[in-house]
Amino acid sequence: MSHFSDRLVMKFGGTSMGSPERIRVAASICIEHQRSRPVTAVVSAMSKVTDLLLDTLKHAESGDDAKVAANLRLLETRHVETCRSLLPESRHGEVTAGLRQIIQDFERIAGGVAMLGERPPRSVDEAVAVGERLSALLMAEYLTVQGTPAQAVNASGVIVTDAVFGNATPLMDHTCARAAQVLRPLLDAGVMPIVTGFNGATIDGRPTTLGRGGSDFSASILAAALDAAELIIWTDVDGIMSADPRLVPDAAVLDEVTYREAAELAYNGAKVLHPRTLAPLVEKKIPVWSKNSFHLEAPGTRILPSTGNHPGARAVTSMNNVALVSIEPASAEINGAHVMAKALDALARANAEVLAFTSSSYRQSFCLLVRKDELNRALTALESTFSLELAHGYLEPVAVDANVGLLAIVGEGMRGTPGLAGRIFTAISREEVNIIAIAQGSSELTISIVVARDGLEKAVRAVHQECALGREAG
Ligand code: ADP
Ligand code: ASP
Ligand code: MG
Repeated sequence: MSHFSDRLVMKFGGTSMGSPERIRVAASICIEHQRSRPVTAVVSAMSKVTDLLLDTLKHAESGDDAKVAANLRLLETRHVETCRSLLPESRHGEVTAGLRQIIQDFERIAGGVAMLGERPPRSVDEAVAVGERLSALLMAEYLTVQGTPAQAVNASGVIVTDAVFGNATPLMDHTCARAAQVLRPLLDAGVMPIVTGFNGATIDGRPTTLGRGGSDFSASILAAALDAAELIIWTDVDGIMSADPRLVPDAAVLDEVTYREAAELAYNGAKVLHPRTLAPLVEKKIPVWSKNSFHLEAPGTRILPSTGNHPGARAVTSMNNVALVSIEPASAEINGAHVMAKALDALARANAEVLAFTSSSYRQSFCLLVRKDELNRALTALESTFSLELAHGYLEPVAVDANVGLLAIVGEGMRGTPGLAGRIFTAISREEVNIIAIAQGSSELTISIVVARDGLEKAVRAVHQECALGREAG
């Protein structure tokens, strides 16, 4: 029988599921932890599989049958070979048939996309979840032959979401009820659920996904729904680091961060966590570990409601897929506050997220940072809201700068650290990188700086060094 309070949820990312060898390691981690407490695993698709599926749908849409067929072959070969490498011959027939059946679901949807010549978001969501269904099946079969009974579970039957395809939000009450119905009996019977990351379904069963990188979010949703004692997110770096190690070679692993710091880091571009991962855990204060499945001895990063005192900045993140939209009243007589309110309202209704916002006091011009892939939506919304003002020349034409990047410096300990912002700006200017806009929330948890795109990486390294966040400096 599983004990209510000691359940463990563990999530394995794409690289941690990326080959037979990695799946063996992931399974051995599960087996090890299952000795002391009941484990629920959440798995990503094998690395690059989600990209392959999305690419295949694009080719289907444009009618490129040869590319579709080639991609399907790649998909099948990768999983069938993994199956052969992981499982004894006696299981090959049945499991390969299971894999092929899942791939057929994908082919059916891709066929529909080809016929329609378009990719309706809900079909895309159903199709891309195939990557996770394949990896979950392989993991469950492997665990079972290793003597740890396990069962693949499609999260479309567990995680209940709204109908925002491609970026759905969980409905927690329904999800808790489903988790009790679907997962608890397995746990009580000593069977480890291997749940697909990334996907869910609406209450009436339409498949959804939680956004790219969403398996982290799946895991935290399930940890909350199961009232887990802990969540461990297994990835390919030693934990949450002071910067993206691909940009900053001497980035240091942080031993602990607060929920708020982790959420700010993720929201501002640290790919190591999906931006919404922390939200479901806050209420129940479920602690999270970010750990490296390639380096089991490394302690990892602990993410907690609160931590010890860490003065100053803790980490620097960046985003390069953003654009700056500027709005400027043509005369000082225009009520700028009114214009800002209308602009923010229009963007909220268009579901275009404002990543940073700054305004100047006299002319009441202001600028907003949005994601590039939401830019068209944002512009359409603004231009229709302000159609009259623009037509009468009360507002200058909406200006867009797509050659920008966002840099964010995060740390609870920045609050009340005098001179920190000045040092950061000086460090960026020393690199001759142009600072375009600056924003800081009143909590002083994050300083956001918009810089010229081609100076972004340089600025990240300069700030990292100025704040002495690196390994040598630490
Ligand atoms: P997974 O497939 O396990 O979900 P991801 O590729 O989504 O892994 O996230 C891990 C990657 O995030 C790392 O390989 C690293 O390059 C990148 N990353 C970006 N910023 C950070 C950061 N601040 N700390 C750690 N990793 C980061
Ligand atoms: N496989 C999905 C993606 O690549 C979800 C994830 O890996 O978290 O976006
Ligand atoms: Mg990820």
